[in-house]
Amino acid sequence: MKLRKVTAVSAAVLALAVSATACGGSSDSGKGGGDKIKIGVKFDQPGLGLKKPDGSMSGFDVDVATYVAKELGYKPDQIQWVETKSADRENALARGDVKFIAASYSITDERKQKVDFAGPYLLAHQDLLVKKDANITQGADLNGKKLCSVTGSTSAQNVQKTIAPKANLKENSAYSECIAGLQNGAVDAVTTDDSILAGFAAQDKYQGQFKLAGLKLSNENYGIGVKKGDSATVDKINKALEKMVSDKSWDKAVETNFGPANYKNEPAPKIGQLVS
Ligand code: GLU
Repeated sequence: MKLRKVTAVSAAVLALAVSATACGGSSDSGKGGGDKIKIGVKFDQPGLGLKKPDGSMSGFDVDVATYVAKELGYKPDQIQWVETKSADRENALARGDVKFIAASYSITDERKQKVDFAGPYLLAHQDLLVKKDANITQGADLNGKKLCSVTGSTSAQNVQKTIAPKANLKENSAYSECIAGLQNGAVDAVTTDDSILAGFAAQDKYQGQFKLAGLKLSNENYGIGVKKGDSATVDKINKALEKMVSDKSWDKAVETNFGPANYKNEPAPKIGQLVS
């Protein structure tokens, strides 16, 4: 009798050990268990996607991604954040480095050749950030001026095509580098989405130094990028985004992340409806 009991206990322990091993695999595609999901975000954009010195993440894109991950079956501690810079996004999805990307990623026809998008979940507009006393009030004022943007962004493309083809455009790999250049006088203006620029302008170290021109130079429909052909994930993410808006989590995320920067965002877009 006693012997039988011991055997039953060791069998249970053995079963536990076996199932723990089975769950501990490195697969990041399943749901639940010990699996992780890899999500691409920006690491240097305050208010949207920011990795803080203590390693924690903040921003609207981070909150949207966390909500979507929850709907896909992943808890916050199962998320592995991966930095996806503007020029790396399409390749990161094609290689399968991440399951999806929420990184101020505008839906464009050109990008749709290479990746699929869920959303949109935010409408932003290209703008200029200049020194407080600067006299730059329209896009054409930039011709002949030193302007900074980021490689692989719609912002840099728009400058060259339409906004100010004769501007002296410097392209960095991340917006934080452009902002440093604006502060030390290396460039006259930084251009990208107003949502991003407002976040930088509101940082303690830049308080009172910069202003947004408020020009609405383009419509940027932020989407969530997924690997080309993964329509099942696009559908699931669209459902999650709709739920995030209807249960007011979207409003809460806007208030938490854009409130401090005093960024006046557009209302929540409808899934599948792009503003051109
Ligand atoms: N939303 C624009 C884009 O996707 C500019 C911001 C960015 O570079 O992430 O290119």
